[in-house]
Amino acid sequence: MKRTPRASLKHLNSFSVEARASQLLELEIEHDLQTFTTDHHFDPAHDLILGGGSNILFAGDVKGTVVLNRITGKRIVEDSNDEVLLEANAGENWHQLVLWALDQGLSGIENLSLIPGLAGAAPIQNIGAYGVELSDVLESMQALDLESGELHEFKHRDCHFAYRDSRFKSADAGRYLITRIRLRLQRNFVPKLGYKGINEELKIMGIDIPTAKQVSDAVVRIRRRKLPDPQFTGNAGSFFKNPVVSRATADLLAKDFASLPVYPAGKNEVKLSAAWLIEKCGWKGRSMGEAAVSDQHALVLINKGNATGSELLALADAIRESVQNQFGIELQPEPLIVR
Ligand SMILES: Cc1cc2nc3c(=O)[nH]c(=O)nc-3n(C[C@H](O)[C@H](O)[C@H](O)COP(=O)(O)OP(=O)(O)OC[C@H]3O[C@@H](n4cnc5c(N)ncnc54)[C@H](O)[C@@H]3O)c2cc1C
Repeated sequence: MKRTPRASLKHLNSFSVEARASQLLELEIEHDLQTFTTDHHFDPAHDLILGGGSNILFAGDVKGTVVLNRITGKRIVEDSNDEVLLEANAGENWHQLVLWALDQGLSGIENLSLIPGLAGAAPIQNIGAYGVELSDVLESMQALDLESGELHEFKHRDCHFAYRDSRFKSADAGRYLITRIRLRLQRNFVPKLGYKGINEELKIMGIDIPTAKQVSDAVVRIRRRKLPDPQFTGNAGSFFKNPVVSRATADLLAKDFASLPVYPAGKNEVKLSAAWLIEKCGWKGRSMGEAAVSDQHALVLINKGNATGSELLALADAIRESVQNQFGIELQPEPLIVR
């Protein structure tokens, strides 16, 4: 287990903002889990588990320890011709895992290509994109209970998955260190092309009947065009969740805003587009100091170069206030905010 005292977190978060932690603990091999459990008492009020840092905003320092689970490893644990159970340790890079699965002839996660971060963080907010969510394929996962020091196995139904949410992001936030995930993938590819952008992209690529790899390629092409690359422009992807409201609330709003986009979200509820609400308030492309709203995508806040986490948070708060005042809708941030 690697220990670094008084560490900078600037290179460990995709916003590339400066923040510090009193120490970094890096778990590199399976045995480190044991050492970590016996040597360190995790205090959720001061300590933090960090994956790839692509869904977090440091608006302040971490007073205690930042724990990085970098234990890698992936394997096929069950193979029954059509269905395969793929197990990945938490430290695996998510996108590389998607590509590896495709290389083995396995499909089911191709629509989730190029989402930054590590496999261990994928269940936290039930990552989703282009009509697929992790919960569609997650069979089970294992996590270390940081209170008791015991390893637990969670079946799909125990994870309480919802839109960009799970028990690990809400009721049990900060209680578990995810150690590995198990995904049920398919050998027989059934494309999920409900999201119209993918079909259009495949047409541009001259493909009528795509393979899973070609769907992945299409998703990668769309994402590269639409989203700023954190390697060059600090960001955390979508900063706000799309608000889910009652159909009655949406109907009332539609009376004043005829072009309001509305998507089904279960019985009597609909999902609104946070990007549309933000754009209507005039925020797309606007800056506050070194923090800005991307001119490519109104949901993405960017670090123009030297933004502090507090500047980015001030911009997010100003956006939330505008949307609340103009539409009466409360936007919820998607990333974890450390204050
Ligand atoms: C350009 C860009 C595009 C994005 N697009 C999408 C998208 O399409 N869909 C989507 O859902 N998300 C998207 N995201 C957000 C982000 O990539 C995902 O949420 C990803 O799963 C975060 O992984 P991470 O390893 O970086 O987690 P981190 O940001 O390090 O952590 C996120 C949360 O998970 C917790 N955590 C991390 N690892 C563990 C672990 N092993 N055990 C317990 N808790 C842990 C952290 O404490 C924190 O609360 C995007 C981000 C960027 C920058």
